[in-house]
Amino acid sequence: MSYESTCFHCTKDQRLQDLMIEIAELPQSTLYLFKEQTYRGRCLLSFKGHKGGLTELEPKEFTQYMQDLAQAAKAVQKVFNPQKINYGAYSDTLAHLHFHIVPKYENGYSWGSTFEMMPENKMWLSETQYSQLVESIRANL
Ligand SMILES: [Zn+2]
Repeated sequence: MSYESTCFHCTKDQRLQDLMIEIAELPQSTLYLFKEQTYRGRCLLSFKGHKGGLTELEPKEFTQYMQDLAQAAKAVQKVFNPQKINYGAYSDTLAHLHFHIVPKYENGYSWGSTFEMMPENKMWLSETQYSQLVESIRANL
């Protein structure tokens, strides 16, 4: 089977929609709001095209993806005003380049440590609340 039919970053199927909500298409990526919102404003930036990691990118793709990442992080910073933003690109079991963009708040959850991929006490929001976050981030891109 091809990546296009098995990788949920490529298919954008229900598996992806269960985890995140699309905010915007950027030149080299798609920006999503992560539904689990323990870290308020947490997003994910998925590379456009099935590439396994930064080392596989052409120089132009790399530069544009990093620009997209900075653009997304600036929007998150502007909307949520966290003390820091953590970036995570792991992909041990999912071979499609993506970065977690995780706002961290002083004295907040796992402040001073690595963010947790899936915190124990999950923070789910209402559809209205998700829409408000998506709109706020989109308006600040
Ligand atoms: Zn893919």
